[in-house]
Amino acid sequence: MRPSNPKTSRRQTRQIHVGSVAVGGDAPISVQSMTTTKTADVEGTLAQIYALAAAGADIVRCTCNEEEAAEGLAHIVPRSPVPIVADIHFHHEMALGALAAGVHGLRLNPGNLRKEAEIKQVASEAKDRGVPIRIGVNAGSLHPDLYKRFGGATPEALVESARLELSYFEDVDFHDVKISVKASSVPLMVAAYRLASETFDHPLHLGVTEAGPPPAGLIKGTAGMATLLCEGIGDTIRYSLTADPVEEARAGRQLLEALGLRERKGLDLIACPSCGRAEIDVIGVARAAQEALESRHLPIQVAVMGCVVNGPGEAREADIGIAAGRRRGHLFIKGKIVRVVPEDEMVAALVEEAEKLVAEGVEARMAAADAGAEAEAEADRRALLDSRGADANHSAAKVEIIRKTIHDEHGEPGPP
Ligand code: SF4
Repeated sequence: MRPSNPKTSRRQTRQIHVGSVAVGGDAPISVQSMTTTKTADVEGTLAQIYALAAAGADIVRCTCNEEEAAEGLAHIVPRSPVPIVADIHFHHEMALGALAAGVHGLRLNPGNLRKEAEIKQVASEAKDRGVPIRIGVNAGSLHPDLYKRFGGATPEALVESARLELSYFEDVDFHDVKISVKASSVPLMVAAYRLASETFDHPLHLGVTEAGPPPAGLIKGTAGMATLLCEGIGDTIRYSLTADPVEEARAGRQLLEALGLRERKGLDLIACPSCGRAEIDVIGVARAAQEALESRHLPIQVAVMGCVVNGPGEAREADIGIAAGRRRGHLFIKGKIVRVVPEDEMVAALVEEAEKLVAEGVEARMAAADAGAEAEAEADRRALLDSRGADANHSAAKVEIIRKTIHDEHGEPGPP
């Protein structure tokens, strides 16, 4: 069993480097994604790599399935903003070609690339070039011998596949390795990674493979990877979605930020679920705010709240937010009202203030608050309370009905 790091509870692994990105040890957990273009299409692939990097990918994988793909990599690698890993199945000569193209890493599938001599040849070449390899075991393409021996794609079979491949690498004194044991079944994948974590001290690349389109694909990926990350298992992650890979990169980054494993780089928009008090279409306003703010890459938490009665208080931890009341938007910073604007200007005002907040800081923007804003907001709050009462959601009335129903069922007299 590998020791846990007492400071972070993250399982300790060796550290490797995929180009400029450290993976394992105390390196930040990295986000990966994979291009969907033909790798021979250099300009198209580079455009996608740039989009993936902008969305949060630290490392990008490209397929290297034919000679033209290996040649494409020779043009792509020097112009890529992030390290490039070549994905290899079946043809060891494609791995050698990718290494010659200068890739920063290889992924070999032991279920598809099976000849010991060829695997050792690739590992030796990678060793000479200082390039790491991921042993990428996949339950769906497990070596048939292991499938038979273990009676299926069990966690033990997946880990044994990685161990066998590792033994070939060790024979040629190659140790620059990370490992994945992916499956499309979340319970299987979680069990396999737990076992891998106990078996190896190499960095682990997490993923639920063939998870499908969002939202189910996102949920499966999150269920598997978040479970393991919370146990301190995992050094790099990839969502496998049937979607634009930009969604994979964005989701990967968001998962790590949500778990507090990477510092916030982008927007975190929170919004109330809306209720009987809501003074606006919360879903519509939240969507408009998200669209307006996302492209600005502001690293802040923004709240969109349906009413001024509870909104600013419920979202006081947000950096900035807006709450609606009496056809006006109440703009607040850390829960303090700084401006009141007409309802149709609330999204524009939110964006403008968010940009100023990032540029000038909280104290400066608090100091620049409109003098009468808090008093105006309080007047709106009071007016709403007076017009709708304290029980706008009719909760108290419902409680009365519940009590009466239960007492009637029991044949008891109702509550006084
Ligand atoms: S009370 Fe106000 S802020 Fe809270 S959910 Fe209802 S509308 Fe949103």
